[in-house]
Amino acid sequence: MTIHEEEAAGVAAFESVIAGLVRRLTLEAKVRLLSGADNFSLHADASIGLEGLVLSDGPTGVRGEIVVGGRESCLLPNASLLAQTWNPEALAEAGAILAEEAEAQRTHVVLGPTINLHRSPLGGRLFEAFSEDPLLTGRLASAYINALQERGVGASAKHFLGNESETERTTVDVRMTAKTLREVYLTPFEIAVDDANPWTVMAAYNSVNGVPSTEHHELITQVLKDEWGYDGLVLSDWYATKGAAESAAAGLDLVMPGPTSPWTESLEEEVRAGAVSEEAIDDHVRRLLLLAHRVGGLAVPRSWPESVEAPAGALRRAQLRRLAAGGMVVIKNVDDTLPLREGAAYALIGRHATDTIGQGGGSAQVRAPHVVSIVEGMTARLGGDHVIFTDGVETRKTLPAVKPTLVRDPETGEHGIRVRVFDDAGDLVHSRHLEVAELEDSQIGWLAGAARIELSATLDVREGRMVQLGTRGPGNWHLVTEGHESNYRIDYHPGPGGGFFRPKSHAAAVRVEPGQLVTATVERDSLPRILGLVVSEAVRSSASAIAAASAAARTADVAVVVVGFTPDQETEGEDKTTLSLPGDQDALVAAVANVARRTVVVINAATPVLMPWIADVDAVLFTGLPGQEAGDAVAAALLGDVLPEGRLVTTFPAGNHRGPAWSTTPRRGVLEYAEGTSIGHRGWFGSAEAPAFWFGHGLGLTTWEYLAAQIVRSPDGRIDAVDATVRNSGRLAGRETVQIYFDPDSDDEPIRLIGWGQSEVLPSQEARIRATCDLRLQRRWDQDAHEWVPLRAGTVLIGRGLGDVRVTIP
Ligand code: BGC
Repeated sequence: MTIHEEEAAGVAAFESVIAGLVRRLTLEAKVRLLSGADNFSLHADASIGLEGLVLSDGPTGVRGEIVVGGRESCLLPNASLLAQTWNPEALAEAGAILAEEAEAQRTHVVLGPTINLHRSPLGGRLFEAFSEDPLLTGRLASAYINALQERGVGASAKHFLGNESETERTTVDVRMTAKTLREVYLTPFEIAVDDANPWTVMAAYNSVNGVPSTEHHELITQVLKDEWGYDGLVLSDWYATKGAAESAAAGLDLVMPGPTSPWTESLEEEVRAGAVSEEAIDDHVRRLLLLAHRVGGLAVPRSWPESVEAPAGALRRAQLRRLAAGGMVVIKNVDDTLPLREGAAYALIGRHATDTIGQGGGSAQVRAPHVVSIVEGMTARLGGDHVIFTDGVETRKTLPAVKPTLVRDPETGEHGIRVRVFDDAGDLVHSRHLEVAELEDSQIGWLAGAARIELSATLDVREGRMVQLGTRGPGNWHLVTEGHESNYRIDYHPGPGGGFFRPKSHAAAVRVEPGQLVTATVERDSLPRILGLVVSEAVRSSASAIAAASAAARTADVAVVVVGFTPDQETEGEDKTTLSLPGDQDALVAAVANVARRTVVVINAATPVLMPWIADVDAVLFTGLPGQEAGDAVAAALLGDVLPEGRLVTTFPAGNHRGPAWSTTPRRGVLEYAEGTSIGHRGWFGSAEAPAFWFGHGLGLTTWEYLAAQIVRSPDGRIDAVDATVRNSGRLAGRETVQIYFDPDSDDEPIRLIGWGQSEVLPSQEARIRATCDLRLQRRWDQDAHEWVPLRAGTVLIGRGLGDVRVTIP
């Protein structure tokens, strides 16, 4: 029996027990269970042996209930970087790490993976999702989910459905045809349900074809539960539930968060009034109890391990470094510039080398034990004498909270800050030390009753200098330090959750001395906010930064310029408006490339960036957001200690406004998916213009010959697999990813990825690689007949992305 069969058998045996438990509950008791007990936990009910289950975001680490300043936990490489491995085993390893992290935190469900697709490259939250492709996304998500759930921790496939962008995200009505729905956006969920059965699915904020996702009977009940036979629990995204009766009757099982929700307010009455049947409520409770049974929260409490590998433990660090480096993509590499060699003189340039971005912004954020910067990683690997760092141009608009190592609690002298809470009368009601220089005011019980919150610290700088001093988070602030006093207002970021997602900052140029005290006070507010203290390097002009970088580049053997996005661009809550690198980073790269003997560009971003300087540089490594071991992973990839065998998971346009889908701005509340099923490489293929880099592109550090390819057909004539024989024709070992695309004969059907296979091959060796193909991508949705029709006739293209096809079989 497979694990799924065993589980199904167990569930069937348990059904009658669960039914008996449901019968013992009154309507009131049932409805109570169907909303969160608080932000991230569910109600217990001792009368039926139900424990209070604990949920946590997800998907890049197990954060715990507090977004900033909570418990330290592992920060994994971001989802698209993991996906760049194209390797289900890597995703399974990530899932296993998350399961252990969840166990360490006594958490039953991890709110991930995010399996929305990269529709437009502008999507702010693409870093949290795997790729532009339904098959790649579905298969990798299944590996992640299986790894979690095999260890008794539930996954949550999110956000169901059509949450591909963030603009007007809680109200946007995403419109698409039934064909697009089925063939593209439902497919990753269908694959995940078939192949991994996530114990929960999260209904999205947006509407689909006029109906809120949380009230979508067709999607939740007809497709997911009835047609696919899904037996898990559908919960709402946070605050996404609108109508109580509509959502409960549509099949939504659980409303998050609590303790109050549209269901606690009126669902009981709606049932008594006959707007929702009690059978529907029973089904929601049954699914909740099944979840509890699966995660060990019903009748027999689960045992949690005494200890698991610490987030900064040696084993964990090695795993996370390997996972991150293995997914990095070598986009360009002329004359064997990569791997870098030991002993050469390197000029390491750019703000991202010190301010290395390990993760994106929003609810997926984790408090990592550390994020190794690229300067730290390169210096540790190559030796301080060989790596000379020069700062680059400014990159951030919004300043983050100061690193705890640069500030000290004025009362205790420990690294971190002091938070003092005052009531209306001005009396001190609470005072405590924080290890990080920020907090989330809505989450913290000890802030209740506060009228003013004060953050204070002494500065742990080595010498007197100019800095940018200020705060982050909305409110009316009063900041005082010797020689400087200011009053200012920081507004909420527009849109829902605006104090929380991408909180704005304010800072002024101030001269400070070591040990100087800074005190910032803000009034209490009712909306959730992140509040923090900002101490940042003084702003320099781009001209002086570029002049210094050019001078450094001239004297080195190799200039390594590190550029990228920041959480200003890659964040939940907001989309990008351009794919250009922020600030004057393009000018910096161009100037360095102009004078350096060799130029390597390291792009620390998760999603497509424009590279106007691409022709002038020798190598480009695309690193994603590599998580806590970022700098060590980048060094390992650049030196080839870990093979950077990533392949792009999304197509890179050569300019703004290009490609099958661009705008993410709804018109009068509606976002039309007008490109239909032709998203990403499907739409680029056959268009007049080529992208800068194709989905699937990635050079690794070696070269490949394709010697032969053979199709293995299923009994109904579709493609089960392709066997490709490849030869590693380079000097270094490599891991080839053989990609199989199917171009159906019909004009209405775009080309699509139908499978891939991978193998590690030593130099001069050959290997036969089996690429398993998926029948779920070889079919079309007949909208009139409302059924799938197999696609058989077409051309098979085999290779390394659609820009480098090696074998075509008609
Ligand atoms: C996000 C979800 C997340 C939830 C809980 C929402 O804003 O869309 O992905 O799981 O918050 O933090």
